[in-house]
Amino acid sequence: MNNQAREYIDKTIEKVKTQNPFELEFHQAVTEVLNSLKPLLESEPKYITNNIFERIVIPERTIIFRVCWMDDNSTMQTNTGYRVQFNSAVGIYKGGLRLHPSVNLGIMKFLGFEQIFKNALTGLNIGGAKGGSDFNPKGKSDGEILRFCQSFMNELYRHIGATRDVPAGDIGVGAREIGYLFGQYKRLTANFDGVLTGKGLEWGGSLVRKEATGYGSVYFARSVLASVGKEIKGMRCCVSGSGNVALYTIQKLQSLGAIVIACSDSKGTIYNEHGLDFNTLIELKELNDMELKEYAKIHTKSVYTPTKDYAPNSRHIWSIACDLAFPSATQNELNLNDAKNLVANGAILVNEGANMPTTLDATEYLINNGVLFAPAKAANAGGVATSQLEMAQNSSMTRWSFEEVDKKLLEISNNIYTIAYDTAKEFGYEGNLIIGANIAGFRRVADAMITQGI
Ligand code: NDP
Repeated sequence: MNNQAREYIDKTIEKVKTQNPFELEFHQAVTEVLNSLKPLLESEPKYITNNIFERIVIPERTIIFRVCWMDDNSTMQTNTGYRVQFNSAVGIYKGGLRLHPSVNLGIMKFLGFEQIFKNALTGLNIGGAKGGSDFNPKGKSDGEILRFCQSFMNELYRHIGATRDVPAGDIGVGAREIGYLFGQYKRLTANFDGVLTGKGLEWGGSLVRKEATGYGSVYFARSVLASVGKEIKGMRCCVSGSGNVALYTIQKLQSLGAIVIACSDSKGTIYNEHGLDFNTLIELKELNDMELKEYAKIHTKSVYTPTKDYAPNSRHIWSIACDLAFPSATQNELNLNDAKNLVANGAILVNEGANMPTTLDATEYLINNGVLFAPAKAANAGGVATSQLEMAQNSSMTRWSFEEVDKKLLEISNNIYTIAYDTAKEFGYEGNLIIGANIAGFRRVADAMITQGI
């Protein structure tokens, strides 16, 4: 059985690479998930006999469409839009929309694939999907963002619905973009329903959704630390990024007594050994979309390092000595060099806030060197879980208080930790949350697929 499982995994990974050439991030996500499922395949041959791997690595539906919009100079611009509806075995398609120039089909598929298992881990009835466009929102006027969002929705609306597919935000998509998308959906369908999450609080949004991914990430880190008898209080933390996930990770860490000494954006890194000021960060990044270098002009004892001064092949933030690292910006932002720096400087935990921020060799190095590792699909699942809480409030036409939603988020985060920990232990890998999270998420989806027939 050992050989059969190994051969089945290798054969599927090879096939994915051959059938999806150039989609490197997708290969990476599939390799990571399938390799970690070996202990399950060895004890449960039904996943091989039912050919689940061959099915699960192909999206149920991939929609690729043209998005034309008029810029402020009345010149027509064209982008590509995507929605990858990957797997609906355990529920309605759910996953964010990303607007970033790096978006391509491979990135959409890696994100959608990860989303399947993340959503399954929450224990809620949500399937996996992801979407977005190579549109770059940076430097665009409000009118240009509006016209892009309307054009994007002109095609997307026919593929989504409150009981079919409910997109949310991701990189480049916040409350403003969700508002423009929702407005156009309503205009096209004449329906006011919960077709998107991350909505404004006055028109169906949920309290805590904005904070949920960051808060959930910290709740998860707290569980991991508790398992080795440590707590967040007093820990020095580096949080990469300064977007939605990073900012609310910083806020929750500070409220629990941690000292957040560094964060970053796509242009540079800010560092202050005594801790960063959350209100200034919100003012600069969330409210005014400014660059982090402005922070050093306000807090003059802070040190700003622009990307051009980073050491070759590394991110400056991971060379700063810290106890806890929260990669919360984007994929593959923590490589082997960065992992070596973290280990050399005594980091005890890497807690993934972003999706797949750590490269495969960096992950292996961290684990082999005794660093606790919280994988994204478990650590950042609080965002999608709270999206589902928004859907539940919309469909029952109720509204829960901040405390109520936060309590549910905490419970879900704790449950995800428990299921990942217990599953790893069940297969003899106690403490390996990658194996635990992947097996637990996969098993739920695969069993549903088998039950529902082909
Ligand atoms: P935002 O767009 O709000 O913020 C992204 C941040 O990362 C920004 O500070 C941005 O810099 C920085 N960044 C983006 N790309 C790069 C890059 N190539 N190099 C360096 N820095 C970069 O996105 P979110 O905070 O929503 O998402 C961050 C991560 O978390 C993503 O991986 C996303 O998929 C994941 N995630 C998000 C969830 C959510 O609820 N929002 C839920 C689960 C996962 P700058 O400010 O200069 O643009």
